[in-house]
Amino acid sequence: MKKIIVAIDGFSSSGKSTMAKELAREAGYIYIDTGAMYRAVSLHAIRQGWLNKNNIDETALQQHIGDISIEFRTNAEGKSETYLNGENVEKEIRSLDVANGASRISTLGFVRRELVRRQQDMGREKGIVMDGRDIGTVVFPQAELKLYISASPEVRARRRWLELKGKGESVSYNDVLANVIERDRRDTQRAESPLRKAEDAIEIDNSELSPEEQMNIIRKLFQEATADC
Ligand code: C5P
Repeated sequence: MKKIIVAIDGFSSSGKSTMAKELAREAGYIYIDTGAMYRAVSLHAIRQGWLNKNNIDETALQQHIGDISIEFRTNAEGKSETYLNGENVEKEIRSLDVANGASRISTLGFVRRELVRRQQDMGREKGIVMDGRDIGTVVFPQAELKLYISASPEVRARRRWLELKGKGESVSYNDVLANVIERDRRDTQRAESPLRKAEDAIEIDNSELSPEEQMNIIRKLFQEATADC
């Protein structure tokens, strides 16, 4: 069967990465979490002192962006983990601070251009499921299957809050909701590649769907898309 590119876009905490991972596993495709790439750049910039609550040292970031190595390696349980300059940062990049930084540096054109170029390289052989904000619109406008995942901010904040609590982080639901709303605003209103549904993307609102119901819909769409090839 011919391999295709699956582009999955949507808001933060829409559950798109859980679904993208599962689809990639079932199809034997490579899964790429592009949010993790923006998070890795954010973590590196925080560590270097180029990014703090008030400021971004764009000159330093632009000068060094090409040297930041970001890789995905599969661990013993078969899960993909993010490596920054050879170090496993999978846990660290999931914090709220790093997420906020990622949302800010992802508004910079030179950051996007560099990461988009790397993402396009990864998809050259097809057989890839990639999730993010601009995959169907900018990275792979020619993708054979494009999905746009949405859910209400309250549903997404609750999922994220439960996940953070489960990891032992003490955050309030209201803080998580405020963070979700702020990141939505930045993602949809930035000048560079704002989050929007590609015209030919299929929208799935999963506010009322169980993960299994959602997977059934996606499996069917994937089968149809590969049958067309
Ligand atoms: O998906 P995730 O929440 O991990 O992404 C972290 C941040 O990276 C998002 O808030 C978004 O601003 C940015 N991002 C992006 N384009 C992508 C993926 C993520 O701008 N393709």
